[in-house]
Amino acid sequence: MSRPLRDLPKAHLHLHFTGSMRHSTLIELAKDQGLHLPDALAEDWPPRLRATDAKGWFRFQRLYDIGRSALRTSGHVRRLLREAAEDEVAEGSGWLEIQVDPSGYAHRFGGLTATLELFLDAARLAAEQTGIGIGLIVGANRTKHPLEAKTLARLAVQYLDHGVVGFGLSNDERRGRARDFDGAFRIAHRAGLLTAPHGGELAGPYSIEECLDDLHADRIGHGVRVHESARLMRRLADREITCEVCPLSNVALGVFERPEDVPLRMLFDAGVPVALGADDPLLFGSRLLDQYELARNVYGFSDAELAELARMSIRASAAPTELRRELLAGVDAWLTGGA
Ligand SMILES: [Zn+2]
Repeated sequence: MSRPLRDLPKAHLHLHFTGSMRHSTLIELAKDQGLHLPDALAEDWPPRLRATDAKGWFRFQRLYDIGRSALRTSGHVRRLLREAAEDEVAEGSGWLEIQVDPSGYAHRFGGLTATLELFLDAARLAAEQTGIGIGLIVGANRTKHPLEAKTLARLAVQYLDHGVVGFGLSNDERRGRARDFDGAFRIAHRAGLLTAPHGGELAGPYSIEECLDDLHADRIGHGVRVHESARLMRRLADREITCEVCPLSNVALGVFERPEDVPLRMLFDAGVPVALGADDPLLFGSRLLDQYELARNVYGFSDAELAELARMSIRASAAPTELRRELLAGVDAWLTGGA
């Protein structure tokens, strides 16, 4: 009998706010508000996606926007974060970093600052109610103007000691070069925010290099296509830059055809730090625990290796020192506790 993976303490570092919504909650909110959902988000859920071309990515974004449009009140925001926290606790997460671009909601909740404060307040409440630690990563959108990202970085810095732990960059890598956002990341990095831009998902190793060279990345969102360059894998390993690998997201979006094609084992064996993440359960139909199950069942990770995956997620997190120590001790206990 192998050890239950839900009992393995871990940190979840790659989860988007809207994408964390339970599908059942989307159905309920849509019904309450008379919002029509396309089949891909209703009876045909989870949607069959493909983001290897611009059209496919657009469809993914469109479904994402529909999910966002169902969140209309502060009560909805609080509910979403509470449920996300409950789901994390049920899967053994002791620390969650949730990524949000407040500008996507600002028109609904009274501007950027008020929106970020609403998210932070909801995250604090969810943490109190469930016992998990939660940090917010403010994510800029790379398809928008770099000046907007700078505004967001300045805002994120103001809340550095009030729940914001990091600064990110998301959306289609083919449409916005990482290096164009160097000004925003300089602001975040200098103030001491952890920097975690997306890279090496839809685009190849060059996009990861830009994250390292131009954005001072502490971690890379996905980064999975680093496997195309042995030299870059060595660089990430040497500098201990963690890749937030989300295997089932990669498969859902067609970055890799099949789960067995995701090079998690290759990265792990090359010494690249890896933190498993779920990305957008609302659109991919899988959560964090599914990624760990995959590591065990498809990539053949032993319990000792799974424990190391969990440790890497905790070490790369922005969790407070005391919580990290506690979670790491929990990982050891899980492993020595035996099967
Ligand atoms: Zn992501």
